Formats: sequence, C-alpha cells, structure tokens
Amino acid sequence: MWSKPVGGWGGAIVTRRAAGFQWEEGPNSFSPTPELLALAIAVGLRDELMLADRRLPRYVWWQGRLQAVPMAPPGLLTTGLLSPWGKLRAAIGALGFVPPSFAAEETVGGVFPAAFGAGGFGAVGGSLCVGGVCRRSRGFVPRGGISAGGGHRGVGGGLVAGFAQALRQRRAPDPQLPQTKPGELGSFREGIEALPRAIAVDLAQRGGAIGLGQRLIRLEPLGDRWRATLATAEGEQTQEARSVVLAVPAHGAAKLLAWLPAAASLAAIPYPAVACAVLAYPDGDLRQPLRGFGHLVPRGQGIRTLGTIWASSLFPGRAPSGFSLLLNFIGGVTDSDLAALPPDAIAAAVHRDLQQILVKPTAPSPQVLAVNLWRQAIPQFTVGHRSRLAQVEAVVAGEPGLFLAGNYLGGGGLRGLRAPRSGGCGPSRRLS
Ligand SMILES: Cc1cc2nc3c(=O)[nH]c(=O)nc-3n(C[C@H](O)[C@H](O)[C@H](O)COP(=O)(O)OP(=O)(O)OC[C@H]3O[C@@H](n4cnc5c(N)ncnc54)[C@H](O)[C@@H]3O)c2cc1C
Repeated sequence: MWSKPVGGWGGAIVTRRAAGFQWEEGPNSFSPTPELLALAIAVGLRDELMLADRRLPRYVWWQGRLQAVPMAPPGLLTTGLLSPWGKLRAAIGALGFVPPSFAAEETVGGVFPAAFGAGGFGAVGGSLCVGGVCRRSRGFVPRGGISAGGGHRGVGGGLVAGFAQALRQRRAPDPQLPQTKPGELGSFREGIEALPRAIAVDLAQRGGAIGLGQRLIRLEPLGDRWRATLATAEGEQTQEARSVVLAVPAHGAAKLLAWLPAAASLAAIPYPAVACAVLAYPDGDLRQPLRGFGHLVPRGQGIRTLGTIWASSLFPGRAPSGFSLLLNFIGGVTDSDLAALPPDAIAAAVHRDLQQILVKPTAPSPQVLAVNLWRQAIPQFTVGHRSRLAQVEAVVAGEPGLFLAGNYLGGGGLRGLRAPRSGGCGPSRRLS
C-alpha cells in the first residue's frame, strides 16, 4: 500500500490507514470548486472523486443538546438555535428591511450575533470564530466548519437577497467537469492525499524534478535571478532561478523575506495550534446511529473540543463494519494551553467531551487511531488582514520573479488556494 514519504508532498494534507480505517489528519473534505475539479481531472482523478451526501445534517451543541443547523432561510424561523428576538431579526433581515450595518472589515464574532442575536446560531460565529474577519457582502453561508478562530465570511444583509444574489452569481456548469450541487463536499476514494500524490506523479511524468525533504533556508535576489539555499541530507545546496514561487505559510515566508518591508505583515498573521484526534467507537457505544456531517461546539458550553467530523457517516467505507470514526478538533485561539498537552491527555479530553454529546456516558475509552498536533494550523484572518495582504502584494510586486502562494492569501481551506501572487504574472513574466 502506498504511504506518504516523510517530508513529502501535500503539506497539511495527511491521509492515513490502519486496522481497516482510513482517515484524514488535516483537511477532511473540500468544496468542489471548478478550479479544484479541473486540477483533479487533469491529474487523472476523475474516477476517484467522492461527493458526500449534501443532505447530511450539520449540528451545533447548544444548551445541552445537538441541534440541526438550518440549511435555508425558512429553517431559521423554527430552529432552537435562535432566540425569539433572533428569529424576528432574521425575518426582518431576510426581507431586506433592516440589514445589519457592518463595517468594511468586521469580526465574525461581531457579525453573527448582530445578524442572528445571541442564540446558538450567533454563538457559532461569535464563539468558534473569535478573531475571524468578515468580508462585507450580502451572501449567506449556512455551512458549518472549523477554522480554529477564523472562518465564515460574507454574512449579513437580507437573507433572501443574499440567496438571490448567490443564485445569480452561480456560474454555468462546465460540461467537462463532474456536476456538483451547492453544499456538496468532496474527497477522493483514497483520501485527499490522492491529489498531491497525483500532482507529483504528473509533474514527474512531464520531466519535472521534485526534491523532497529539502528545507529552503535562504532566499536572496541576485540581479535578475534568485539564489535559494536549501538544507538537504547531503548538506547545504544552492540553486538559481529567474522565478521563485514561495508556497510556504506566512510565518515561513516572513523569515525567508526578512529583508522586505512586508515581512512584518506576513509574520503578524496568527496560526493557532489545533489538534486532530482520531477516535473510533463500536457503534453500540454511540447514543444514536451516526448520520450527519458533524457537530460544532460554540465556546461557553462547557466543552473543550471545537467540533467533530462524523467521518464514517460523511464518506462511507472509512471504518470497518460496526465502528464509527470521529475526527475531533481541539485547540484554537481560545485554548492556547492545548499545545502543552501530551497526545493521550488530548485524546482523553476529547473522549470526556464526546461522552456528553455523542457517545454513551458509560462508553469505555475508544480506539485512538491518531492525535496530530498542528502547532501552527490555520491562518486567522484577523481585523487588518486585508490591509496587511495589500501591503505584502505591493511590496512583492516590486520584486520581479518572486511569487507567493498559499492559503493565507485566499480562503482558509483547499478551495481558497490561489494561483501564485505577485506583481503582474503577465506574458512577459512567465515562471522559468
Ligand atoms: C487540522 C486541519 C484541518 C483542515 N481541514 C480542512 C478541510 O476540511 N477543508 C479544507 O478545505 N481545508 C482544511 N484545512 C486547511 C487546508 O489544509 C489548508 O488550507 C491547505 O492544505 C494549505 O495549503 P498550503 O499549500 O497553503 O500550505 P501547507 O499545506 O501548510 O504547505 C506548506 C508546505 O511548505 C513547507 N515548508 C514550509 N517552510 C518551508 C521551507 N522553509 N522550505 C521548504 N518547505 C517548507 C511545509 O513543510 C509544507 O509542506 C485544514 C487544515 C488543518 C491544519
């Protein structure tokens, strides 16, 4: 069976298999955007694509019970996640009479309660996404997610208007691509790591040289070229190129570009620690059969875990018959002590939380398949992020041949990965 080499491709994408289980320790699914689908197909993964059932409910643990998140505006009026006042406010907003007034850059912690009141729905944004920045928009994003502090953007305005605008903006489907429906989430039969593996194979087949296990330790401009110094198993090596794409996290780019005035802006992008604890329970230990995407836990509910993906329900076949597989995320900006805990303490904390929510209080300790502590997990789009990026972009534009790529430049997830950014990647500035 294929396994990922140490220091290999894929960065945060980590798929593992053992004892009949298959799980992800980084991204678990992706939004099947046309760009991502086109890439997957170009590297031969058309038949490997899996799409989860979009009707699977998403839950929030609120006031001692799991409550389904409404997936469309009518559901907002019956949900237990909104107070009566929140429902009234949502209804008024839905009709577009009194859209909440947001600043151009607003914290998610401010936007959700402003739009939905102080109920559970407001708390999902306000507690889970503390520090996240909201782009001013009238689109409404009803999808749950964990970004350990940042997250949902583009909430507000009239909900009906927001949906209408979202429908108008939907692009005509590309007949060459697999057809997907809004709200669907994707993966590949052998896990998300299939994508970077297929890209690596494709590059190698085209004659590209892939150097694994090498660390870029210095990057210097040299006239119209760049000199890269790499730490390798054979010692330091230098390479020169006309163009460099720096696809490392912002804090890594800040160190490598310390001589640029934009380095401080890159270094200021926070990446809190998050652990992914992968636990398996016999189905009989669950309070009810597992059917859903997963659940989120707003802060203030007496639960430390941020949320849980019900992995074996989302993508069937990822657990042996009779077992349920849960991917749990714990840590983030509100729990900086987590990074000091050993893996067994993290797994025990998650198990205690699950005994309150999903598994029977008497359930014995689960099978702990993995605890992966990401010390610098996901970039947070705090207030000022956009102006920091604008400064970075302006400075990098003055450095011919230098390109930045990575999730801190776009959305927080795989769908947000953008083409390299720098000043003018035009025909005269092709990568060499
Ligand atoms: C726990 C977790 C769960 C997530 N869940 C989801 C999800 O469900 N859906 C989703 O869409 N997204 C999810 N994400 C986000 C998604 O994984 C990331 O947005 C995406 O993988 C980031 O890709 P990237 O290329 O920007 O950075 P990375 O994947 O971090 O890649 C950066 C690479 O640069 C390398 N590097 C760093 N410094 C150097 C150096 N000096 N020299 C050489 N190499 C260097 C690193 O080793 C790494 O391989 C999750 C992330 C985490 C951590």
